[in-house]
Amino acid sequence: MTPCVGAGAAHAVVQTICGVRRDGVAMKQEREPEFADAFYRSRTWRRCRARYLQHVGGLCERCLQRGLTVPAEQVHHKIRLTPENLNDPSVTFNWDNLEALCMTCHQAEHKQKRWMCDANGRVVVL
Ligand SMILES: [Zn+2]
Ligand SMILES: [Zn+2]
Repeated sequence: MTPCVGAGAAHAVVQTICGVRRDGVAMKQEREPEFADAFYRSRTWRRCRARYLQHVGGLCERCLQRGLTVPAEQVHHKIRLTPENLNDPSVTFNWDNLEALCMTCHQAEHKQKRWMCDANGRVVVL
């Protein structure tokens, strides 16, 4: 069997397993890791997020690059939050590490990098 990464023709090979898991993962896409729950609820983050969105004009940065004006719904951390860097403001609150994304772009971003299928069609979380 051919290993498949994300979407694409390779999925036909492991259609059933991947198909199910793909939807399951997609539905949970919006949840960042649980250790970061408190962070995302914090007033500091909400203020940072709001200011950043204002800064970029409230639009999805990726869509904008393609000439589309789509409202941003998420502020994504380019360097993923981990329990280690969660208290590092140069990661969590650094505008250079933030990206305003619409739901579609945010999901695409996480889908691509969070998991892949191994040779047996099992989902491996990256
Ligand atoms: Zn977008
Ligand atoms: Zn994200």
